[in-house]
Amino acid sequence: MPIATINPATGETLKLFESLTQEQIEEKVRLAADTFRSYRRTSFEEREWMMLRAAEILEAEKQEFGRLMTTEMGKPIKAAVQEAEKCAWICRYYAEHATHHLADKVVVTNATKSFVRFQALGPVLAVMPWNFPFWQVFRFAAPALMAGNVGLLKHASNVPQCALAIEEIFGRAGFPDGVFQTLLITSDMVERVLIDPRVAAVTLTGSEPAGRSVASIAGKQIKKTVLELGGSDPFIVMPSAPIEDAVTTAVKARTINNGQSCIAAKRFIIATESYDEFEHRFVEAMRALRVGDPMEQTTDIGPLATERILEELDGQVTKSTAAGARVLIGGKRLARAGNFYEPTVLANISKESPAYCEEFFGPVALLFRVNKIDEAIQLANATTFGLGASAWTNDVQEQARFIDQLEAGCVFINAMVASDPRLPFGGIKNSGYGRELGEFGIREFVNIKTVWIK
Ligand code: NAP
Repeated sequence: MPIATINPATGETLKLFESLTQEQIEEKVRLAADTFRSYRRTSFEEREWMMLRAAEILEAEKQEFGRLMTTEMGKPIKAAVQEAEKCAWICRYYAEHATHHLADKVVVTNATKSFVRFQALGPVLAVMPWNFPFWQVFRFAAPALMAGNVGLLKHASNVPQCALAIEEIFGRAGFPDGVFQTLLITSDMVERVLIDPRVAAVTLTGSEPAGRSVASIAGKQIKKTVLELGGSDPFIVMPSAPIEDAVTTAVKARTINNGQSCIAAKRFIIATESYDEFEHRFVEAMRALRVGDPMEQTTDIGPLATERILEELDGQVTKSTAAGARVLIGGKRLARAGNFYEPTVLANISKESPAYCEEFFGPVALLFRVNKIDEAIQLANATTFGLGASAWTNDVQEQARFIDQLEAGCVFINAMVASDPRLPFGGIKNSGYGRELGEFGIREFVNIKTVWIK
């Protein structure tokens, strides 16, 4: 894939970028390693000051950053501006809490004194996706930099201007050169960076194949890895659920970010008592969504980020209908320029259908009818993924079973799955390992050093 800004709403190529040469990569890795030696000794107060400045820049220029995101990957402008605001939030969160999360932790033993100290690891490579082109990067960078690490960003090839804008934000915030650098490189050049002994660790957010590849290279090098991969999150509705609220939230949870979110609700598992009403209301609400120019404030769904994503999604829908799935609405790309796909709902999904087990990365909802809670839990867990799960019920015993038995990195009851700087985020099974956000996130890229004093 070339490194380029291609407007997904029009298909127009706006800007092409050259990939870095081997010499330029060497220069940036050298700068990262040199900078780490001094940056790791800066105080939390100094880092806090710079991180708060980054938050101010994000807030002051959120409209410009929002337009950049929308231009490069097509999310509705309203959501893009909110994304810039959320990045400011995470900068403030870690600015204010890093000292506490990484304070020495005294452990009483038979030593005179024993404690745990958390120390930065070094340059961390971040391989990031385009779907939340600012948020994904900031949720790595804010904790990593507050912990005293330095960052090297390999962003997705379709959001190069976002990648450069983020590097500029950290520079303007006062972080020394080399604390956060963008590497404009293609994915085949990641290995070259990762095997460099000066690079201490890697985090990847993206697809399963990319995760497997990066983790196996890191494994050979014995380097710490965090993987945030895909998901096929269940959204379960039981008979006691407030149906109107559940439907409104279900539509939002499926179509957020034009349907391209790892934690979007993808499989809607509905108790038979509620199924018909849910299906009717849900299809009507999907029909009412406004698809169009993502720069318009009133647009609900913009184009998919790339032609490839659209073709993959369309192929999955076609194969699913060939395997017996019924199209309740949508089911094809829109006849206009750009990567627009109709809001789509599929029902009657058989086990043989891709819709039963694959991740659908776009505005396509998959409906399932179940008879009782055991069946709901079994179906929810019948996936190789384990990222998030949303369950709707006012029955406390049912709530307890969902919390206990759903195989996922998080369970949200009567709410949609969402990320929050204060709470850990990550998956199990093929959704990856490790955690971002909260106190667990900032402790991923640190040496947890045991100290014993006699
Ligand atoms: P992708 O192809 O895996 O791309 C993600 C990043 O990995 C990009 O920077 C990409 O670079 C790079 N990459 C791809 N193949 C690579 C390889 N073999 N070695 C090294 N780097 C490689 O992901 P996508 O399909 O664009 O993004 C959607 C996926 O990400 C979905 O599965 C989604 O669920 C997942 N996701 C997960 C989370 C989470 O937090 N769990 C969040 C967002 C998205 P190029 O662009 O240059 O190819």
